[in-house]
Amino acid sequence: MAMGSELRKELASLVSSPVLWDCPLSGYTSFAIGGPAAALITVEELAELQRLLVFFKKQKIQWRVIGRGTNLLVSDTGFDGVVLILGKGFTSIARRDGVENGGGVIQVGAACSLTRLVDWCVDQSLSGVEFTAGIPGTIGGAVIMNAGAWGRELAEVLVSVTCINSSGQVCTLPRAELEFGYRTWHDHYRTEKDRVVVGVELQCVVADQDQIRNLCQSYRAKRRMKQPKGEPNAGSFFKNPEGDAAGRLIEASGLKGLRVGGAMVSPVHANFLVNSGGATAADVLELMEKVRLKVQEDSGIVLEPEVHFL
Ligand SMILES: Cc1cc2nc3c(=O)[nH]c(=O)nc-3n(C[C@H](O)[C@H](O)[C@H](O)COP(=O)(O)OP(=O)(O)OC[C@H]3O[C@@H](n4cnc5c(N)ncnc54)[C@H](O)[C@@H]3O)c2cc1C
Repeated sequence: MAMGSELRKELASLVSSPVLWDCPLSGYTSFAIGGPAAALITVEELAELQRLLVFFKKQKIQWRVIGRGTNLLVSDTGFDGVVLILGKGFTSIARRDGVENGGGVIQVGAACSLTRLVDWCVDQSLSGVEFTAGIPGTIGGAVIMNAGAWGRELAEVLVSVTCINSSGQVCTLPRAELEFGYRTWHDHYRTEKDRVVVGVELQCVVADQDQIRNLCQSYRAKRRMKQPKGEPNAGSFFKNPEGDAAGRLIEASGLKGLRVGGAMVSPVHANFLVNSGGATAADVLELMEKVRLKVQEDSGIVLEPEVHFL
């Protein structure tokens, strides 16, 4: 996408934060991998986002919104379009009905991190999202992924999702109208892939604060025990096939420690592909294919990536 200087000027005039041209995305993903985006913009508020989406549609400019990039593998050649990151204007958390009504429904901006959300809920003695303790990333990304852990998933506590579509229209979708699956929001992909989640409502209940805090701490501690430390990764690389665990299958195929370039199957947790130093996206993709092939040969099961690609 060759964006001429007029178009660049017009784009820059639509936003309050500086446009980062030819911006390497490796600094925006937990894999620490990825070539440049033609432009990266931190969007500070809803009206700005609306203006941008309308502009992109009119000018046929491709774009993608990302959260913290903790479930994302960006190609070495980068993304020939505009990457959007939701900024401070999308990080609010509040009780919908106020404390006085014992309101358990909370409204959360899409760019709010799960860490902050969990801490806020502990502070407010609200139970519901403890299972997300220790999952990095934003609540917006977590909706798209239907993120989950310990047998629970986000869709269970979701009340509604507020999105903005590529024409700049805002709509709030009640949970009952949405179809989620294991680590996926089905209808998002079937219908309007190009909408941006700007906020969610989550159902929590008032409960004992110490119990909530202890549960979060125990989930975080279990993660520290089971997951690799210090090597950039995107969490579980493959979805668990029904009735089994991708990590178990990969380990059973003897693939722990397998390397392609700087990418490696973690010796700590076989479903984590890690960047053990200088890995490229091509390394990770080749390693992914090797793992899939061997697991399929050994078990007949075809592993599907959980990680998204850009
Ligand atoms: C160490 C580690 C542990 C992890 N553990 C877990 C786990 O236990 N369970 C789990 O489910 N996941 C886990 N993950 C994966 C990841 O943290 C979650 O999927 C998280 O919810 C992704 O959020 P994000 O903001 O980083 O999304 P990104 O990775 O930035 O994006 C994910 C996808 O959502 C899209 N997207 C992001 N924000 C928006 C938005 N506002 N509107 C529209 N589309 C959007 C992106 O384009 C992309 O397709 C782990 C990751 C790491 C690194």
